[in-house]
Amino acid sequence: MKNLVLWLVIFVAIIALYQLVNTPRTGYEEIPYSEFLTNVETGEVKDVVFKGEEIKGEYADSSDSETKSFKTIGPASEQLLTTLEEKGITFKFDSDKEGSLTSILLNWAPLLLLVVIMVFFMRQLQAGGNKAMSFGKNKARMLNENQNKTTFKDVAGVDEAKEEVQEIVEFLRSPKKFTKLGGRIPKGILLVGPPGTGKTLLAKAIAGEAGVPFFIISGSDFVEMFVGVGASRVRDLFAQAKRHAPCIIFVDELDAVGRHRGAGLGGGHDEREQTLNQLLVEMDGFESNEGIIVMAATNRPDVLDPALLRPGRFDRQVVVPRPDVRGREEILKVHSRNTPMEDDVELSVIARSTPGFSGADLENLVNESALHAARFSRMKITMDDFEYAKDKVIMGVERKSMIISDSEKKITAYHEAGHALVAKLTPGTDPIHKVTIIPRGMALGVTQQLPIEDRYTLSRTNLNGTIMVLLGGRAAEEIVFGERTSGAGNDLERVTEIARRMVCEWGMSEKVGPITFGKGDEQVFLGKEMSQTKKYSEETAMDIDSEIKSIVTGNYEKAKHLLEENIDILHMVAEVLLDKEVIDGKELEEIIKNNKPTNYPSPWDNPISPEGSMAFRDNNIKDT
Ligand code: ADP
Ligand code: MG
Ligand code: ZN
Repeated sequence: MKNLVLWLVIFVAIIALYQLVNTPRTGYEEIPYSEFLTNVETGEVKDVVFKGEEIKGEYADSSDSETKSFKTIGPASEQLLTTLEEKGITFKFDSDKEGSLTSILLNWAPLLLLVVIMVFFMRQLQAGGNKAMSFGKNKARMLNENQNKTTFKDVAGVDEAKEEVQEIVEFLRSPKKFTKLGGRIPKGILLVGPPGTGKTLLAKAIAGEAGVPFFIISGSDFVEMFVGVGASRVRDLFAQAKRHAPCIIFVDELDAVGRHRGAGLGGGHDEREQTLNQLLVEMDGFESNEGIIVMAATNRPDVLDPALLRPGRFDRQVVVPRPDVRGREEILKVHSRNTPMEDDVELSVIARSTPGFSGADLENLVNESALHAARFSRMKITMDDFEYAKDKVIMGVERKSMIISDSEKKITAYHEAGHALVAKLTPGTDPIHKVTIIPRGMALGVTQQLPIEDRYTLSRTNLNGTIMVLLGGRAAEEIVFGERTSGAGNDLERVTEIARRMVCEWGMSEKVGPITFGKGDEQVFLGKEMSQTKKYSEETAMDIDSEIKSIVTGNYEKAKHLLEENIDILHMVAEVLLDKEVIDGKELEEIIKNNKPTNYPSPWDNPISPEGSMAFRDNNIKDT
């Protein structure tokens, strides 16, 4: 249809063009019929051509080239012809029919075009209408048994979650077995966990194992501009699922539709709310023995509407956490299945040095290592490739080309040495993995600490230690140069945050006591926190501020004191750093051990208690 219109337009254009070219633009003088008659009488006309009503001719006296030809409209009357004959003027008739097709087309072209365009638009409108109809259709992708090749083997390191969902697979394989005993399988299963931990992967694996159709749809696919569309999509999805039962419906990123109702600006009946209501209705509307299981994934269970979580809906929550050391090793194994590796590669070492990495991070790590190995045309991935990739993922890319003045380099070296030395001399902090003054990402230098094991609770000693380490950079600068630089900005930011949480969230201050004070500015946009107001008095606010300040300044003094006492070692570490640019944990230990520092109950003498330090992902210290 579109083509046809295009051809028609081209055709008409060509004709118009032809006509334009064919019509002489000049040379014809338009004259009145009466003047023509007079001219004939006076014998000024040489010859005449009749064409329909049009009369064209040439003047006898053609010395003046500009008015050689003329044109007029009038009847070729009997009398005129007689006169012409008398005067001896040659005349002929041109067929009016000639070119009639073009003229007809030309006459009709605008109308034709209009009709064509009308038809075209009608079509378009109709198509649009169809689309409007199909708005209500769900956008779920259906993976059936044959397309879906993911199995539990592909999911590693989340054994508990896997075990929990195993039951679902059993049910889908042989529903009778369960229903015969009157058992009721949960209708809805909610996978909860941080991004990249394999929630989507797990859901696909369930479908793959169970060998049933698997409808996958993202929460945001329901939401459309028009009110009511989401709801009708939900209806359609469930209707479709019922036809394919037993099957699994998987709503990824459920929080896109499942947010707390009544929250957010504007309030009232918005589209999302209707969609959510429909989802609730549908989930109530089928029995679990119909063989439909609704699964959903989210990394924000806290913003979900409570109605979604009540029994009969998503009554079972499966937590998919970040993997622990063993889990990370398993995941690395899964992703390096098809990657040739040197014998020196020890996945357990890599797993140990990547605390806080999610499955997706680890997959990325393996990929980066492979790319790095490929860049050097190696056939196998080495440990160095992994080390490089890890540094890149954690600390950003090295910026070797960045030009830094010597004095700036010196300040950075002392700053990093300060971090490293304080870390070494303060019990309860994580061992130093690497110190470097090669700029990386936004940082001029990096001190990287790695915990010996994953930690889930933070003790006050650990937190104070962490604050001291973070402040060690600034303290070293102040001692050596008597000057403060902007390089410590990021350190201070993190210190303040830790101190604030110690006081406000973890009840670690005597003066304020074991009370929590809101989650600060952790605002979920459109979340219920919007309405949160400060729930404590001005006095308490002042107490909080002064406690935060005293934690920070106290630790700063301690760090400074520690460095002053070991100023020789600080100089030494800084010099080695300036010389070699990178020091690893072992070298640092050598330097310090050989110089007998004061305050030496160091981490390697008394191993850190299991309730160790940072469980944050960003276990490294960055300077900007
Ligand atoms: P989520 O849905 O939790 O955000 P995904 O399931 O999309 O995370 O995970 C992204 C990718 O990370 C997966 O495709 C997979 O390659 C990898 N991955 C994540 N977790 C795991 C895991 N536990 N085992 C193996 N691979 C994983
Ligand atoms: Mg996902
Ligand atoms: Zn720093």
